[in-house]
Amino acid sequence: MTHPVILITGGSRGIGAATAILAAKRGYDVAFTYQSNATAANEVAEKIRATGRKALMLQADVAVEADVLGVFKQVDAQLGRLDALVNNAGILEKIMRLEQMDAARWQRVLGVNVIGSFLCAKEAVLRMSTRHGGKGGGIVNVSSVAARIGSPNEFVDYAAAKGAVDSMTMGLAKEVATENIRVNAVRPGLIYTEIHASAGEPGRVDRAKEGVPMKRGGTADEIAETILWLLSDQSSYVTGTTIDVAGGR
Ligand code: NAP
Repeated sequence: MTHPVILITGGSRGIGAATAILAAKRGYDVAFTYQSNATAANEVAEKIRATGRKALMLQADVAVEADVLGVFKQVDAQLGRLDALVNNAGILEKIMRLEQMDAARWQRVLGVNVIGSFLCAKEAVLRMSTRHGGKGGGIVNVSSVAARIGSPNEFVDYAAAKGAVDSMTMGLAKEVATENIRVNAVRPGLIYTEIHASAGEPGRVDRAKEGVPMKRGGTADEIAETILWLLSDQSSYVTGTTIDVAGGR
């Protein structure tokens, strides 16, 4: 029996890890990337294998084209035809105003969040599109509510990067709509993961949750459920859209 194949970038921690484990439970063989935390990646791979599905963990920086090409080659060789891509790897940096930021930071933030998503989307389309001899598939981009609210006084650069991801979602979905590929995005709100520590505020979700209509932060599992739904046949008429999973924020 063959199993569908999914590739999740940044699958070692947080939302990517929850998505990788849920995908395995739903029957996918799972490839996922990590950047530096091999210990966390190994734990995720073990949890995937415990479900009976294959796990392929690959070290890569998604902002580097050669790394992305290497990842897709490994997936081709070890798991076979790719059915689903989740562009999840993302970074933000220390909370500050725009005029305090510098060009090197913007290269990093746009490099991972935007260029990384574009590089992976390109390789996925080359494999999935009926135009290129593929059989179709699904792409989900992990954006952020930041794209809608702009994240003033925190990280306007990150918000703008996610805005670019939303535009890519809409445009690419239309490009490949007749090629049996659906492209969608989820926009998480305040989710309990380690990303907030990179902003310099590990407790950011609890500090800000009173501003969420539901008065709580979300979990990585709640985002994973939405991602897996967008990749499933249950969402077969959904493309080019973004779903906010943000407690009403
Ligand atoms: P996280 O807990 O910080 O995990 C980030 C993951 O991405 C890790 O697996 C990390 O690998 C990997 N990664 C980081 N830079 C990478 C790179 N250059 N190349 C490849 N992999 C890289 O983050 P998260 O909170 O789960 O966020 C996942 C996605 O959700 C991101 O796109 C983020 O912008 C978005 N999001 C999160 C929230 C939130 O509140 N948490 C809200 C809105 C949107 P290592 O383990 O090796 O470091």
